[in-house]
Amino acid sequence: MHPPPTGSGDPQTATVVILRGRLDGPASPAVGQALQDAYAAGAQSLILDCTALEYLSSAGIRVLLLAAQQGKARGGRITLQHVRPHVREVLALTGLLDVLHVESGPGAPPSSRMPRASAALREASERDLQAAIQEIHAHYRTSDDGEVATYIPELSKANPDHFGVCVATTDGRIFSAGDCDQRFTLQSISKPFVFALALEAFGDEQVSRRVGVEPSGDAFNSIELQAGTNRPCNPMINAGAITTTALLHAKHGADTFELLRERLSAAAGRTLELDQAVYESERRTGHRNRAIAHLLLNFGMVHDEAEAALDVYFRQCSILVTCRDLALMGATVANLGRHPVTGAEVFSAPTMKQMLAVMFTCGMYDYSGEWAYRVGVPAKSGVSGGLMAVVNRQIGLATYSPRLDARGNSARGIEACVDLTGRFGLHAFDALNAGSNFLKVLA
Ligand code: GLN
Repeated sequence: MHPPPTGSGDPQTATVVILRGRLDGPASPAVGQALQDAYAAGAQSLILDCTALEYLSSAGIRVLLLAAQQGKARGGRITLQHVRPHVREVLALTGLLDVLHVESGPGAPPSSRMPRASAALREASERDLQAAIQEIHAHYRTSDDGEVATYIPELSKANPDHFGVCVATTDGRIFSAGDCDQRFTLQSISKPFVFALALEAFGDEQVSRRVGVEPSGDAFNSIELQAGTNRPCNPMINAGAITTTALLHAKHGADTFELLRERLSAAAGRTLELDQAVYESERRTGHRNRAIAHLLLNFGMVHDEAEAALDVYFRQCSILVTCRDLALMGATVANLGRHPVTGAEVFSAPTMKQMLAVMFTCGMYDYSGEWAYRVGVPAKSGVSGGLMAVVNRQIGLATYSPRLDARGNSARGIEACVDLTGRFGLHAFDALNAGSNFLKVLA
């Protein structure tokens, strides 16, 4: 446990708070409280003496940022003094040296470049990430909110207790907890990949004549097309995905499914199989999707062989993956289309940008806005309980838990992602996220 910081000095001006040991997830609440107490005692500004601070995690930085914000609101500020080089390195990586007024000292990395993390920092961060994943897994596995999907009869056989959380980095490291080798069908998580393949085969202009990129605000299986254009709103809902699959089918005919399977396998880094029973179950009962396909045919949005295209759609939804596969598929996307372990160039970088944008706005169906607000990274869910999230250039994050909420998203998966991305500041607009390096390059 972190020893409580001690305060001293004139409360009317700056109060000195001494930070010691590790300022990480477990220590953060106590330190946060100590900083609050210092303000409450009348301090306007805080000087944080970091001589004895050995380790600072993203959770610790958040506490400091919060305190800085409070300081600013009262016309003061916080200043970090005597920061050790490896702690400074963490702050430099997030680009927050100025925001936190870190006094310059020996070993300060140049602020105009993003330095790479040292081996020690890497090791400490790896430990943190693995511990966080295990903690999150242990915490949310006790939640039994949501129901396993039954509208595809075969899916109802899933074990509702299965739960896996896995992170794959774009340099090929894997962190996991729980049932990460349990196989389940891809379902709607196939949709962004098929969209990417359609873009690569036909280009943006042709694809956008058939399918939009606007969030629908409706359920994934809604039978509705955009007024005026008769296009499905976006390729992440069933109508849009059937359309992109049909585009590919118009070009590749009977080879379409094998082609999709090959590319999805390359994204995962191993050969993915079809779950014949789930495929047949959906083919037998997928009347709603059949209705959608025929509506699309009626408006000329798909070619004449709508039934054959629908069959490919049912098969792509029935491709078997594990949570670990999903994390690696996400990492391939995060890595601009290149598999982090095999090195295979699966997709082109511009396609990944388009795919991620649509995942960001539409990937969680009618929960997409709230997801963007709470989690803030592109993601895609499927009704078998998989969820794949992508932190651009950094990681693929996957969860598997078949209990779904009312919108068809994995209930535990959502909470696990909110928690993990929150702890590590992965939200696209989090203060810890340095984002584009445009200005740094421009300078
Ligand atoms: N195969 C499923 C369907 O069409 C996919 C839906 C989903 O995963 N949300 O209903």
